[in-house]
Amino acid sequence: MTNGSDWVRAWTDLAAQTTHQHREELIELDRAIGDGDHGENLDRGFSEVKKAVDAKPDADPATLLKASAMALISKVGGASGPLLGTAYLRMAGKARPEMDGNDAAEVLAAGLEGIVARGKASPGEKTMVDAWTPAVEAARAQALSGGDFGAVLRAAADAAAKGAAATLDLVATKGRASYLGERSAGHLDPGAVSSSYILEAAAKAVA
Ligand code: ADP
Ligand code: MG
Repeated sequence: MTNGSDWVRAWTDLAAQTTHQHREELIELDRAIGDGDHGENLDRGFSEVKKAVDAKPDADPATLLKASAMALISKVGGASGPLLGTAYLRMAGKARPEMDGNDAAEVLAAGLEGIVARGKASPGEKTMVDAWTPAVEAARAQALSGGDFGAVLRAAADAAAKGAAATLDLVATKGRASYLGERSAGHLDPGAVSSSYILEAAAKAVA
């Protein structure tokens, strides 16, 4: 069993770090098929998430994820803020003080449900859903075969990275990149790439 609050705190720190480190890369990816703000949106967003989490030293994981959701929804401009905010809100509903492999898979599945509820994208439309969907599938498979909390998150992160890489050839049919039509092919989706970094942070955060 993993302590949920410790995990959310460590995840937050690593998510803030990785979105800051990849800020320019995400800006460049979004400049190619969007409006170039994704790196700034996420860097600012996760520094606000960190402030919100750091302000609640004694909170349970659900409270921390809910506070994160509010920070993302209220502080991040662009589509990604409400999308990730809704993911965090749904994840809060599944987070428990002590979590095992099944809990990890349930949390990620709830996150994906939130993104889909908010943005109505299906797999293959070149969005962050293309990182989260294989992540949830891999997490569920790993949990079914008895993987612990860390193993489930590791499987999810690896699958998310592959999913993000596979957005290269896709044509965007949702979000700003869809305005480019066929010309969106040949570029990675910025939100899928950032989601793979966020899910990598979730795996690394397991002590
Ligand atoms: P904006 O597009 O408003 O400038 P961002 O640049 O922060 O917002 O985020 C863009 C990312 O949001 C895209 O790369 C894509 O992954 C994701 N996205 C956009 N629309 C949707 C949607 N309907 N469902 C899921 N993800 C989406
Ligand atoms: Mg943008």
